[in-house]
Amino acid sequence: MTRDVDVLVIGAGFAGLRTLHTMRGMGRTVAVLEAGDGIGGVWYWNRYPGARCDVESYDYSYAFSEELQQEWRWSERYATQPEILRYVEHVADRFDLRRDVHLGRRMTRAEHDGSRWRVTTETGEEWSGRWLVMAVGNLSTTKAPELPGQESFAGEILHTARWPHEGRDLSGQRVGIIGTGSSGMQMTPVVAREAAHLTVFQRTPNFSVPAANAPIDDATDAEVKATYAQRREAARNSPSGLGFVPSRLSALDATPEERRATYEAAWKRLGFGFVLAYYDLILDQEANDTAADFIREKIGAQVANAETREKLMPRGFPFGTKRPSVDSDYYPTFNRDDVTLVDVRTDPIERVTPTGIATKNGHHDLDVIVLATGFDAMTGSLLRPEIVGRDGRTLREHWSAGPRTYLGLFVSGFPNLVIIAGPGSPSLLSNVLLSIEQHVDWLAELMEHVGDGTVEATPEAEDRWVAHVNERAAATLYPKARSYYMGDEIEGKPRVFMPYSGGVRGYRRILEQVVADGYDGLKL
Ligand code: NAP
Repeated sequence: MTRDVDVLVIGAGFAGLRTLHTMRGMGRTVAVLEAGDGIGGVWYWNRYPGARCDVESYDYSYAFSEELQQEWRWSERYATQPEILRYVEHVADRFDLRRDVHLGRRMTRAEHDGSRWRVTTETGEEWSGRWLVMAVGNLSTTKAPELPGQESFAGEILHTARWPHEGRDLSGQRVGIIGTGSSGMQMTPVVAREAAHLTVFQRTPNFSVPAANAPIDDATDAEVKATYAQRREAARNSPSGLGFVPSRLSALDATPEERRATYEAAWKRLGFGFVLAYYDLILDQEANDTAADFIREKIGAQVANAETREKLMPRGFPFGTKRPSVDSDYYPTFNRDDVTLVDVRTDPIERVTPTGIATKNGHHDLDVIVLATGFDAMTGSLLRPEIVGRDGRTLREHWSAGPRTYLGLFVSGFPNLVIIAGPGSPSLLSNVLLSIEQHVDWLAELMEHVGDGTVEATPEAEDRWVAHVNERAAATLYPKARSYYMGDEIEGKPRVFMPYSGGVRGYRRILEQVVADGYDGLKL
């Protein structure tokens, strides 16, 4: 038996739930299919010790309901994973969303039959929808290297994004963490405090700035809530969707003293926003060098041992072009006697043994190995199921040379298929919560406009958009780094810049213009 709805949404994270709320409010029938056994998406799965957001809580939260944003009380500047999950659960209950969310349903296939999307789940269920909204997240399909000998390991191997829901007590354990992206860097100081010994296996040292996390006091909370509308507006008009006004100055126009003062202030307060301390840090190598040198100096000052300090230095790519981390005491952790740093570029992992990891230069005894090795970013969860559009063409075929979209939202040949905050849109270069809501609101307007009609991007519009995304990226320093923005995280993945780097504000203007031009580029 096929269950038919108007809008079929895949994924019950922030994007899927917001889509459900809005589309239901428009009188559409909606069903959300979610692979996991709970809602929350990335915040359901990523439960590793120390997991928290690095966008400020007040910005990384829904803006669609004034009552919601007034009543919810965040406890810290950067919320922890449990607190964010509590927030998602609260939203689901408050807006009665759960009755249309179907858990434990992983979509394996979707095919457009000329008028509807026919979807099959791993459990063998069949669903159909006139619209198929992919709200699957950019960082949800995990990447785990196959290490030789890993089946022989007597201890436990865990992935940060598949952390056991009952938790793991790491006290007194010898733990190895492979990977030093945001997850590895966040978890390192927390695990170091618990474990008997921690060994961190690092491949590429990345730039990181301090989180400057702190509890939120009542006065701050009242102040933010009294002016929330302005904060949201500032975010909507910013390059990244963060709630502060970015600099319009060039790093190269400032004197060295002025620059240092700006960087010191950014270091103490901005976290991820450091990259906006001057407008040209991501555009100009010389400007970027001034920030990179400052950060390297700051990293160096935190690490006592000269050899370890050198191993931790990010070099060879511009600051910000590989997603920088935001840390709490990551670097001083390496001053502890019970923490070891292994640089796998000079001392590669050879194999996993029953008792640990053997590298070229020695053996590291371990009880637990943590893979903080990240994800098949941006396209992983879109290409994992088989999605078949008109004329039997699959999304995998259409994207064989990298993702192709119009506005990041539509794919030519795939009628009424919509991707929320995915490749070709600001997505991972933005506060993704804001980008999600922007997409859902824009889509709602389009749906009102077309009624029961069908929407599809024209091939010409898609070509134009792909060229524009590439052109914007080529004007930045992003292509200089090996990063998941470029598809470098997976061997053999096409090397193209996937998010849209024209900024949240610029992107919003484009979406507005498309509407003003009668939905230019879309066949309605
Ligand atoms: P990631 O940034 O992709 O980092 C993966 C790490 O694993 C990298 O250091 C990578 O090294 C290393 N690695 C991968 N394969 C390896 C191998 N075979 N051998 C040795 N090292 C290997 O993944 P992530 O840390 O999970 O973070 C992903 C994204 O999620 C972040 O960039 C951020 O957007 C988001 N996130 C945010 C927060 C936060 O809000 N604070 C926290 C966690 C995650 P290479 O760099 O050399 O490839």
